[in-house]
Amino acid sequence: MRRIAVEEAFITADILAGWRKVLASSDVEPGFAKLGGSLLKPSAAGTQLVSNLLDIGPGRIAHMDKVGIDVEVLSLTSPGVQIFDTDMATRLAAESNDALAAAIKANPTRLAGLVAVAPQDPAAAAREIERGKKLGLCGVIINSHTRSEYLDMPRYRPILEAAEALDMPIYLHPREPGPSMVTPYLDYGLYFATWGFSAETGLHAMRLIMSGAFDRHPGLRIVLGHMGEGIPYWLKRIDNRFAMQVKIGACEKLPKRPSEYFLENFYITTAGVTDMAVLKLGLDELGVDRIMFAADFPYEDDAEAVSFMDGANVTEEQRRKIYESNAVRIFKLKV
Ligand code: MN
Repeated sequence: MRRIAVEEAFITADILAGWRKVLASSDVEPGFAKLGGSLLKPSAAGTQLVSNLLDIGPGRIAHMDKVGIDVEVLSLTSPGVQIFDTDMATRLAAESNDALAAAIKANPTRLAGLVAVAPQDPAAAAREIERGKKLGLCGVIINSHTRSEYLDMPRYRPILEAAEALDMPIYLHPREPGPSMVTPYLDYGLYFATWGFSAETGLHAMRLIMSGAFDRHPGLRIVLGHMGEGIPYWLKRIDNRFAMQVKIGACEKLPKRPSEYFLENFYITTAGVTDMAVLKLGLDELGVDRIMFAADFPYEDDAEAVSFMDGANVTEEQRRKIYESNAVRIFKLKV
């Protein structure tokens, strides 16, 4: 079986330069000031990370060969263009999609990729999803909030409509919490992947569910990394407490239980989690057909991710689904 990894990051030189400009400006979002500052620090580790992110050519393929990953589904690294002004964000998203499509064309059996969009202009983002599909890209990357706003808000409906109509799954990827709630996360590094990423992205997913987005868009499919950003753990309690809140009139009833939307409209990936107890929870709650392998290169050790999945205590049929056939089906991979 092939090993397909579906949350693998890259950046373009222009977006990197844009990040540096934003970091040097006075109105940088406090979470990004910390995140960008730590990722781009001129240490040996920072330099290696940046060069890994920039390389989606021969260096990336050589690395995949070394680790034993057959296919990477690439996406613009977090927070991508979502920190730029609208025009710059829209332009740089399109340019990054062109660069990604060219990289895939050069290595069509090894690479696939997701469309980056600028949610700042929802109509343009919807058009870019359509253009990205024509370029051969197989889903959409959204790096969580944009200026503390979430995709359930009515102004973002064109993005959800386009993703649904074109049958492009949205990979809802973490970033640091937005300005409206980042303050308590700024201490102890909690804005980052230790806790803040999952809190932020889990909130985003829950807002989509609770807003009725999946009643308006029943065909919309969302992918969450990191074994579902904590939501599989909470499903029973979410249903239970939601029913109680509806009963006392604290929130609107939905046609389905929250967990039903999660189990029907979401997929999860193993990105960044090499823990058999958590994989087992995912298998129990979602079933094997909704779990895909991801390594989260270059932020995580992809050799460790491969060694975990190769040795995971699952059947060979389950391993094949998680490594290969689920990704082929969910992203309609041509490779
Ligand atoms: Mn990631």
